[in-house]
Amino acid sequence: MAKAVVNQDACVGCESCVGACPVSAISVNDGKASVDAGTCERDFTVKNF
Ligand code: SF4
Repeated sequence: MAKAVVNQDACVGCESCVGACPVSAISVNDGKASVDAGTCERDFTVKNF
């Protein structure tokens, strides 16, 4: 099953997604977000952040 990925070209590093992820799989380093594939549960129910 595919995991969530971040479009690195579009990410502005605002960190809005970090707190929205229910399993804390997202982190922002050097101004770009990334998803820990081992933590991501592909729960795409988060829509409002
Ligand atoms: S930090 Fe997260 S919410 Fe902000 S632009 Fe990047 S991917 Fe989108």
